[in-house]
Amino acid sequence: MAHFVVVGAGQAGASLVAKLRSEGFEGRITLIGAEANPPYQRPPLSKAYLLGEMALERLYLRPQSFYDDQNIELRLETRVTDIDAEARNLTLSTGETLTYDKLALTTGSHPRTLPAAIGGTLDGVYTMRDLQDADAMAPELVEGRSVLIIGGGYIGLEAAAVAAKKGLKVTLVEMADRILQRVACPETSDYFRALHASHGVDIREGVGLDRLVGTDRVTAAHLTDGTELAIDFAIVGVGIAPATALAEAAGVTVDNGIVTDLHTRTSNPDIHAAGDCATLLFKGQQIRLESVGNAIDQAEVAAKNMLGQNVEYVPAPWFWSDQYDCKLQIAGLNIGYDKVYVKEGDNGARSHWYYKESNLIAVDAMNDPRNYMIGKRLIEAGKSPAPEVITDPATDMKALLRA
Ligand code: FAD
Repeated sequence: MAHFVVVGAGQAGASLVAKLRSEGFEGRITLIGAEANPPYQRPPLSKAYLLGEMALERLYLRPQSFYDDQNIELRLETRVTDIDAEARNLTLSTGETLTYDKLALTTGSHPRTLPAAIGGTLDGVYTMRDLQDADAMAPELVEGRSVLIIGGGYIGLEAAAVAAKKGLKVTLVEMADRILQRVACPETSDYFRALHASHGVDIREGVGLDRLVGTDRVTAAHLTDGTELAIDFAIVGVGIAPATALAEAAGVTVDNGIVTDLHTRTSNPDIHAAGDCATLLFKGQQIRLESVGNAIDQAEVAAKNMLGQNVEYVPAPWFWSDQYDCKLQIAGLNIGYDKVYVKEGDNGARSHWYYKESNLIAVDAMNDPRNYMIGKRLIEAGKSPAPEVITDPATDMKALLRA
């Protein structure tokens, strides 16, 4: 009986094993995860779960009974420590070895941390990647305390929103000229800066962290502009690095992620990869997508390809972020955009439409699910209405889908 092994029991790994069974695979499936919990959703960790508004069980992608019923061997608290790709053998942290016929790497990513030399390992300094991180941080979120958030990307901003809602004094530093610089247009940065300011968050752009100080526990932060801040704790949200150590051990090609081809295959035809750890070909560029949507879609295509179906993975990127009462939804990828058009709607709804050489490539929609959905469908259909049609309040947006 063929044995398919999936390393990494997160969003992509869980999607992949479920797809293998729904596509009719009757062989042995083993899903191996380093964490103690069955596969769960990470997005609520910096949103509803951290706020204390979502129970642990609701994070789980599937109940344990799903894996039992589907005859999927779920090995938790077990790390794969080595791969011998020639012998098709895995070594586990328990000392066991396991032989596979096909292997998928869905190992996700690691949060970037601050070096010990600048106080990165002091108590009271947190990153935000897994349940353990969220559970460790939650007791710190007490009204009246002071938190410094380092990094103005989505995770840092979501953590700032949670802390502000809980009544903390929040300062956020962003080394770049503006928050969200890596991922969004200036108009979107402006929107979120204003939103946070209206909730009392002190956002400082163009200012980095020089060092965190304290004896055992962090008590203050020195910023690059010379400011010293007294703080109770700090949250580091300075991006992630793909988890590629195992792929490297297996001799698989790695370049800012595990390199996959159009068919989710790595440089070793028996090894596929999906999710945060993998790069993929998108419009002629090898890129990495860090999102739930990609983890699911790429993993499902990988499952089909492990079964020999030879399906191409064509990403249709989407993403979301919740901050206060704003739901941001993003469709497409804005890489290389040259112009952004703003559409205002009713009740504060707003959307930012990215164009590249007159092609619509992405939309950021703030509390505007309707235009998000229309933008997503237009992008996926390769349709690019003229920007003045998009921004005209009189345009019947839905009709654009039929044009
Ligand atoms: P993961 O879900 O990280 O799973 C990888 C798993 O592999 C981990 O459990 C890890 O322990 C395990 N692993 C690694 N190496 C080994 C090994 N050697 N042996 C065994 N197990 C191993 N995306 C969105 O689209 N919208 C959002 O709003 C959003 N918010 C987010 C908020 C937070 C706080 C975080 C952390 C992420 C958020 N994301 C969001 C990103 C999204 O969660 C990730 O893109 C997604 O989880 C990627 O899935 P994955 O399966 O590739 O990796």
